[in-house]
Amino acid sequence: MKGVCSLVYDILRKYGIRGGCHDQHFLVDERILDRIVGAAEIKPNEVILEIGAGIGNLTERLMGKAAHVFAIERDHKLVEVLIDRFGNHEKLTVIHGDALEIDFPPFDKVVSNLPYSISSEITFKLLRHDLSLGILMYQLEFAERLVAAPNSKDYSRLSVNAQYFADTSIIMKIPRGAFSPPPEVISAVVKIKPRPAGFEVIDENFFQEMVTIVFGQRRKKIRNSLLKNRKLLGIEDMKDIINELPKERLDSRPENLEPSQLADIANMIFRHREKQNIL
Ligand code: SAM
Repeated sequence: MKGVCSLVYDILRKYGIRGGCHDQHFLVDERILDRIVGAAEIKPNEVILEIGAGIGNLTERLMGKAAHVFAIERDHKLVEVLIDRFGNHEKLTVIHGDALEIDFPPFDKVVSNLPYSISSEITFKLLRHDLSLGILMYQLEFAERLVAAPNSKDYSRLSVNAQYFADTSIIMKIPRGAFSPPPEVISAVVKIKPRPAGFEVIDENFFQEMVTIVFGQRRKKIRNSLLKNRKLLGIEDMKDIINELPKERLDSRPENLEPSQLADIANMIFRHREKQNIL
């Protein structure tokens, strides 16, 4: 049997694909491919979504475990490769399109070596779906922000928003040499386990808006940030809110607050805003 590496070179040559551009770095390390699929703990009745299937190295392994795989790929040349490589396999549906634009079919788990240029948008699109697990590869720096805890340098609006939807952890780092052609960055695989938030958020959009606004100046104290951004937060008079919040909360910085504490502030502002609009 041919190794993945020589198979990749043959395919790239045959189809005149250069790789390296448009996020096209193909995973060729068989041990890592196996570990990624293993981490997904796929049951024989589960349906898997793969975003950016490329030439199908991960796809092939996912098909070996799952009931069905939906593989989305934007590049028509790579869609041709996937169809050539797997034919009309009953376990595979290749979807030609932009993963940000198409409606996802129903699926249980998502397993992907993602196109890094759409990491944030695609993650939040996925998190709004009903899924039980995500095993997703990102650029290491992005992965570190996704899983960061308060009081760490990587804690950001991305951490808060992702952790509102799911538990997240880095399960392995991937060296550049595991890909063909090698990317310029180190990668990491993140396990994303969706669960209910564990704290109340009255309005999801407003919560995310506020988190974005306060993390715009992550070193500014919450008191100053709320006062400075009251127009953006849609509230003219911050007095009541400032009076209602405990002093230690007002003196803390966004980077020190747990997602639940940020949600409390967002809920309070949202309630005041509703009241002001009614009066
Ligand atoms: N899964 C393959 C592997 O591990 O070898 C390829 C991964 S490569 C990093 C990302 C793939 O996503 C490329 O094949 C690229 O053509 C595809 N891609 C890029 N943007 C996309 C988008 N918006 N929607 C769907 N696929 C996309």
